[in-house]
Amino acid sequence: MAAYKGQRTTDEGPRYETVIGLEVHAQLKTASKAFSPDAAAFGAPPNTHVDPVSLGHPGTLPVFNAAVVGETLLLGLALDCRIARRSVLARKHYFYPDLPKGYQISQYETPILSGGHVSIRDEVSGEARAVALTRVHLEEDAGKLVHDLDPTATLVDHNRCGVPLLEIVSEPDLRTPREAALYLQEIRRLVRWLGICDGNMEEGSLRCDANVSVRPVGSDTLGTKAEVKNLNSIRGVERAIAHEAARQIALIERGEAVVQETRLWDADREETRSMRSKEEAMDYRYVPDPDLPPVVVTDAVLAEARAAIPELPAARRTRYVDALGLPAYDAALLTEERALADYFEATLDALRATPSSDEAKAVSNVVMGDVLRVTKEQKLDIAAFPIGPGRLAALVRMRLDDQLSSTAATEVFDAMLTDASSPEAIAQTRDLLQVSDDDALVPVVDQILAANPKQVADFRAGKQQVVGFFIGQVMRTFPGAPDPKRVRALLLERLKG
Ligand code: ADP
Ligand code: MG
Repeated sequence: MAAYKGQRTTDEGPRYETVIGLEVHAQLKTASKAFSPDAAAFGAPPNTHVDPVSLGHPGTLPVFNAAVVGETLLLGLALDCRIARRSVLARKHYFYPDLPKGYQISQYETPILSGGHVSIRDEVSGEARAVALTRVHLEEDAGKLVHDLDPTATLVDHNRCGVPLLEIVSEPDLRTPREAALYLQEIRRLVRWLGICDGNMEEGSLRCDANVSVRPVGSDTLGTKAEVKNLNSIRGVERAIAHEAARQIALIERGEAVVQETRLWDADREETRSMRSKEEAMDYRYVPDPDLPPVVVTDAVLAEARAAIPELPAARRTRYVDALGLPAYDAALLTEERALADYFEATLDALRATPSSDEAKAVSNVVMGDVLRVTKEQKLDIAAFPIGPGRLAALVRMRLDDQLSSTAATEVFDAMLTDASSPEAIAQTRDLLQVSDDDALVPVVDQILAANPKQVADFRAGKQQVVGFFIGQVMRTFPGAPDPKRVRALLLERLKG
């Protein structure tokens, strides 16, 4: 992949290699919290989703939410992880004002998932590469400190306490900031596809810490890493890693050492700042939580997860290319989101049971073009798109049958957004239907030929391009919208005849 700013390059190529391992936290989309019946939803008024368990009151007992396991298994199956049939929930102790219990329920020695990989695709070569995962473990979220509401105090919102998280830890297997961004994008696409996390980095339902080190090219020992926190967009992850790698390279080139530490990314100032060093690292005193039995994955639960797993984006992309004949670009774009891919397929189904590749491409064109244009402009969810697959298919059919020009098709499409009638009716009312009926076209064609004897002679003398002139004349003279393909055919028939 391409070199990036800060990477020292020589005539022979880069001298340093960046090594990156990501720790991604995904907030699971369960109705209630991991260990209590509070709602897990984002965005409620502060401290309204707080029962005594969330607040860590003495004498309360956590009860594990089974939905958490179901969602975790979907991810484990999708990423090809080993699934622990029995894993332990542990207490991770630290003191912070957003953690009322004084410990976080997490997993330590036995994560529920281990191994597996995330597949990323090189944007230039298109080649896929597997990024190895170390582990995926269950934990609960902490609350949130609010520093900017009260000028004299920090406030705490406990709504998020106990919301279920998965921490997805990669091996130090990524090599460029761009690869890290692609990896994170792929995880976001996958958790959204599986419906287990909404993947919203601004709201914090998907978070990422980046571990970054550099080493001379060719070395196979790892350099000292720094962990960069406070990354809240995919672009931020990419930029922060590039900056951090450049900082470390500059240190090494000056003969200084990289120290193992946690650093904070400041997106406004485009720099990372030291937060705490390894010496200040905490001893979490992990112990199995005596209040919680081990998490047991039974055969039945595993079978249920296997049955619930949808066709994954990679499989759909392959199917779109191999079975439908779509270009890889189309297949990638259409499978960005499951709802979009479903909409595409429903439209194609409505068009024909076994579509040709031309038909598939025609549907892909209108989905990637007009549909995405409107969902972006109007910030619409595809699920709430005003043109259903059936009506869209009818529009595509008209276009395939040359009943509409491409500009007319877009006009009909735009009208369909606010008008529930059929595309045929809309095209009729607006007089957009292309006429390909010979009875109507022939008199006009003959009239134009008769009016331009010089151009007819030119054509017969070998000046083929005058046919364009004739088409233009017919299109202008004809009342309504003649089908240019049919007009061309009629003209050639007569000119050659
Ligand atoms: P720690 O003990 O500091 O938590 P871990 O070994 O658990 O470190 O690794 C945490 C994350 O850091 C993982 O994603 C791992 O791949 C990554 N990592 C470990 N060593 C390095 C390194 N030298 N350079 C870059 N990333 C690394
Ligand atoms: Mg660790």
